[in-house]
Amino acid sequence: MAGGDGARDATTERAAPVAGGTPSAAAPDGAAPAGAIAGLLEQTGAHRIGHFRLTTGLHSDEFFLLARAFQYPAVLEHLGAALAARLRAVLPPEVASGHPRRAAGPGTAHGAVVGPAMGGVLLAHAVARALGARSLFAEKEADGSMRLKRGFRLAPGEPVVVVEDVVTTGGSVRKTMAAVAAAGGRVVAVGAVVDRSGGRVAFGVPMVALLTRSAAVFRPEECPLCARGVPLVAPKEI
Ligand SMILES: [Zn+2]
Repeated sequence: MAGGDGARDATTERAAPVAGGTPSAAAPDGAAPAGAIAGLLEQTGAHRIGHFRLTTGLHSDEFFLLARAFQYPAVLEHLGAALAARLRAVLPPEVASGHPRRAAGPGTAHGAVVGPAMGGVLLAHAVARALGARSLFAEKEADGSMRLKRGFRLAPGEPVVVVEDVVTTGGSVRKTMAAVAAAGGRVVAVGAVVDRSGGRVAFGVPMVALLTRSAAVFRPEECPLCARGVPLVAPKEI
């Protein structure tokens, strides 16, 4: 895989640049070990330890903001390739054997990768590139559901992989799966960079994640970090 140099250059302001954590960390089968992924997320600031208010209103002692990793194209490419390698092991043969030259054209039966906006857009592109599939995204509707817009079309029964940057409850993934089904596609697997459910989340199809964590979340009134007076941060607002 090309690309560790870009990440190294892009992170020179950091004490621990991405450098050695990227392509060289890949296992022989192309799957990156979880330790290397965790290091990559820490080095790019995508994984933070502290005291955070989640979008649900709950508090947590760690937070993942994958946009901070994806800002480095070489890191995004690496994570996409690593996730694609993990997905290949669970995908039906017609998707797993994908090749970029077969990806062109709307509605090809070859398969698509669909991510929910925003977190899944860039990741879907990176995974699709590695799988040789098309890259689509689903967007939120006024009623909270998700839908394929912008003229995105799926062939009847077209195999689809749904990807998301961080899965906690799996709500966005389920809505994206519903959007794929409504468009006539067939979800064959789900992939995430981080599974914060500790492996408990289930979608009725094979699911793979590069990193699995059990999130420690607290109601504000029961939060030990609040009790200790640790300053609370809303990570997406800074
Ligand atoms: Zn708290």
